[in-house]
Amino acid sequence: MNGVAGNLEELRRRIEAASRRVGRDPQDVKLIGVSKTVPAERIREAAAAGLRRFGENYVQEASRKIEALGDLSVEWHFIGHLQTNKAKQAVGRFHWIHTVDRLSLAREIDKRCNAVGKPLPVLIQVHLGDEETKGGVSPEDLENLFDAVQTMEWLEVRGLMAIPPFLENPEAVRPFFRDLRRWLDRLRQKALHPEKLTELSMGMSHDFEVAIEEGATFVRVGTAIFGPRRS
Ligand SMILES: *Cc1c(COP(=O)(O)O)cnc(C)c1O
Repeated sequence: MNGVAGNLEELRRRIEAASRRVGRDPQDVKLIGVSKTVPAERIREAAAAGLRRFGENYVQEASRKIEALGDLSVEWHFIGHLQTNKAKQAVGRFHWIHTVDRLSLAREIDKRCNAVGKPLPVLIQVHLGDEETKGGVSPEDLENLFDAVQTMEWLEVRGLMAIPPFLENPEAVRPFFRDLRRWLDRLRQKALHPEKLTELSMGMSHDFEVAIEEGATFVRVGTAIFGPRRS
């Protein structure tokens, strides 16, 4: 067993190598440690080893940990399916929301941001492939949702996120990553602020290197940092 610090060191090496393979600056790939089910003390350990961004899937679980770790200066990213009635709690706690996938949710987040007077960077989650992975706007509805979200007062739409189907061979996931990047390119054509539309949140423990080769700017890595989750 390596421990969290050793795992992080190894990950940084792999992120750097994948970036170099395609001529990217490794600094442009931001690592998010996915800490769902991981106790606060292990998150603290990862922060001590230099990890600055954490991803959580459940508002309730995250709220407890964010409070317990309030002394750390880290960024919290919401990456789970967000119920509209949890938007208020999420807005007060998270620095980014990756999973805006419907108009009603976007409106509710915007309203809650207005109430606290703070803008929030968000990503639109796109449903790629016909797996039964939950969440994500269908590609057909993406442009309409984007048009609506980009004119909202408090939401700063910064890019796209996807959870492609899990496939044994990470190479088989490449076309999904490529698709997401193409969608981002397409949206940039019609964006009011194309220079702000820069982020692609894609790639997990088993396929993040392929995602980086295809342009990921956020990779969401859980088990490769914290070990297997007890379910
Ligand atoms: C759990 C989760 C991850 C991390 O998955 P690993 O395979 O443990 O790296 C990434 N993104 C989302 C949306 C998740 O729910």
